[in-house]
Amino acid sequence: MLGLMMDTPLLISSLIQHADDYHGDTEITTRTVEGPLHRYTYREAHQRARQLANALDSIGIQRGDRCATLAWNTYRHFEIYFAVSGVGAICHTVNPRLFAPQIAYIINHAEDACLFVDLSFMSLVEELAEQLATVKSIVILTDHANMPPTPLANVICYEDLVHSHSDVLDWPQFDEHTGSSLCYTSGTTGNPKGVLYSHRSTLLHTYAASLPDNFGLAARDTVMPVVPMYHANAWGIPYAAPMVGCKLVLPGPVTDGAGLHHLIESEQVTFSAAVPTVWLGLLQYFDACGQTSSSLERVVIGGAAPPRSMIEAFAERFGIQVLHAWGMTETSPIGTINRPRHGMSEETPAQRYQREAKQGRPLFGVRMRIIDDQNQPLPHDGESFGNLTVQGPWVCRGYFNEPHSDAHSEAGWFSTGDVATIDPQGYAQITDRSKDVIKSGGEWISSIALENIAIGHPEVVEAAAIGVTHPKWAERPLLIVVRRDQSTLTRDEMLHYFEGQVVKWWIPDDVVFVDQLPHTATGKLFKLKLRETYRNHLLTIGVAP
Ligand code: AMP
Repeated sequence: MLGLMMDTPLLISSLIQHADDYHGDTEITTRTVEGPLHRYTYREAHQRARQLANALDSIGIQRGDRCATLAWNTYRHFEIYFAVSGVGAICHTVNPRLFAPQIAYIINHAEDACLFVDLSFMSLVEELAEQLATVKSIVILTDHANMPPTPLANVICYEDLVHSHSDVLDWPQFDEHTGSSLCYTSGTTGNPKGVLYSHRSTLLHTYAASLPDNFGLAARDTVMPVVPMYHANAWGIPYAAPMVGCKLVLPGPVTDGAGLHHLIESEQVTFSAAVPTVWLGLLQYFDACGQTSSSLERVVIGGAAPPRSMIEAFAERFGIQVLHAWGMTETSPIGTINRPRHGMSEETPAQRYQREAKQGRPLFGVRMRIIDDQNQPLPHDGESFGNLTVQGPWVCRGYFNEPHSDAHSEAGWFSTGDVATIDPQGYAQITDRSKDVIKSGGEWISSIALENIAIGHPEVVEAAAIGVTHPKWAERPLLIVVRRDQSTLTRDEMLHYFEGQVVKWWIPDDVVFVDQLPHTATGKLFKLKLRETYRNHLLTIGVAP
């Protein structure tokens, strides 16, 4: 017997409709690419999204067509999110920080029909345009006065496009399983792969992420996603904000400590989200200028593990709560978040920081397991570490236009490529990417654990631990370190620092000091490159076999 409830599809357009209906005068503030702050309301955003939706038809966009963006977090990008998905087309956010040939690959693989581009990325698009076989129109995200001279054909001014269309539109209703947006994984090996979200997966993820024990978002909040809208939909914040009706602050191209601090204070931001590198910049700015924040209450840190010292600094020195989250493009992205369980209110600060350095527990909807190389489940004892696999309604079940995916070889599960422990309370701790784990004599050493210890040294700014070739053990850990300015830290002092913090055989075999470490386009350590550079390091310096 079927229930007798309305079959209202879960559609992305319903979010902006709701924000207009019930939070219409709440503000969206943007630091524009052109420079000044732009302010308007959810009502105006919705009106312009409807105009853009009508305009899409005029440039030949049909249901299912992919529309690419190369854009910062701005109100225009926000409008594209809702207009494109709202008419049943696919909003394909492209990461402009990738290498140009990868961007061309991604746009061609997705067969994007049009491209929305911020002024900052004009030269990139001009360089690539000839290779983009399927792109019929290029819409420049600015107004008439700021249109740049360009040799590109088929160029349209965004504001002209929006203004030349009516806002009269009832959002079409269609199957909630319809694709809504597309995001390619950064792929440090092989070609990037496309994750195609659906309206249903997006709405369910938005509900879950907003819950009190997750982001805990409310209408009274002022929310600033620093995580880019081209990186896993800014962790879902552009959808969660209109769902809860909070004020939204979009920082445009700003990611530096001073610029973020200015926005946080002028807009009284209460909640923000970014990768550790961004927060490091803000903390350094706080220190250098003797600043703090009068409004910031919570920051989500994800994308990479924050060092415990960062969690402590936020809490102890600035009274800001860290919400440590783990996820992937493939998981929409939020998979776990670190919040206390019932009965944990008696934790000492030290216990709390130790817990918060873990990646957290699954949101309702996500299930996770750790398995060994023979697919056997491992115990949740906080010690055993294995391959992390997940399932849930916002976890991808395959990649866009890829007939085969190794990560989906076990029916119903997605193999994340992360290695983790899960403790008896259900808190997962990522110990590595499976390709980064250091396999010494058949035993696994966590590269992240080594890096976290190294970063704990007061003279270390950043560190990477990689497995390099060893004649006896196959691989041994090598530590690559960026020291603070003027530091005289030596190899032996660095290695000595590990004693008592890990078992002896985990201590790296050598230390290399460098001025800077390479990063990928999403701000993660580029370990593949480091492995290429240092693969034979131990052989070259002549280790005892
Ligand atoms: P992406 O798809 O680019 O967002 O990258 C996802 C990957 O980032 C995950 O598979 C993890 O390896 C890493 N990652 C994300 N969040 C965390 C975290 N909190 N701690 C450690 N690694 C993380």
